[in-house]
Amino acid sequence: MMRVLLAEDDETISEPLSRALRREGYSVDVAEDGRAALTSTEGEAPDLVILDIGLPYLDGLEVCRRIRQEGLTSPVLILTARGDEVDTVVGLDAGADDYVTKPFRLAELLARVRALLRRGNDQRDGGDRPITIDTKARQAFFRGQEVALTAKEFDLLRVLAREEGRVVPRETLMLEVWDSWFGSTKTLDMHISVLRRKLGDDANNPRYIVTVRGVGFRFQNEPEQ
Ligand code: CA
Repeated sequence: MMRVLLAEDDETISEPLSRALRREGYSVDVAEDGRAALTSTEGEAPDLVILDIGLPYLDGLEVCRRIRQEGLTSPVLILTARGDEVDTVVGLDAGADDYVTKPFRLAELLARVRALLRRGNDQRDGGDRPITIDTKARQAFFRGQEVALTAKEFDLLRVLAREEGRVVPRETLMLEVWDSWFGSTKTLDMHISVLRRKLGDDANNPRYIVTVRGVGFRFQNEPEQ
């Protein structure tokens, strides 16, 4: 059984969330503060850690840094409140894999959990997904070979991959990668086409980065036969 460690001090969040996770078939340990969260990772490593940022004693980012220092490689999903510095979570090297902003929809969070656990399994099993991304090392691999990407290309791929299987609107990509709603989206199209080329994708019939007309792009990374 997959073990999830949920570190959240707010019962109105941890209660329904742990119930939903158990319903999904995970075994769930709840920690109500940062120190308890650290202690819970000391024995057998959890398969996934969900960390609220605002925790008593040690905040979620500090917990994340420390468990990474201890060598724990399990995926970490951060829960942020609106107004928290999300860039600090993903951009700086706390070592988190993904984040969700409160208030979140339960279905959305469970989808992220499934994606992270699947990714974790792939890495452990050597996986047969064509594209793998190491967000901490900022490296991308195609069939095991590193793909040389510029900083913006990597960020673009990282955001697309984080939302794997879902459409990411053009505005979201502009905002997350270029910090701007404005600017010419030609830049975005140019980067998408370079990314496709580097991943060996066919622009006329893309397999990994699919254009969703009038909306944005969807990343697909299905295991190869
Ligand atoms: Ca909190």
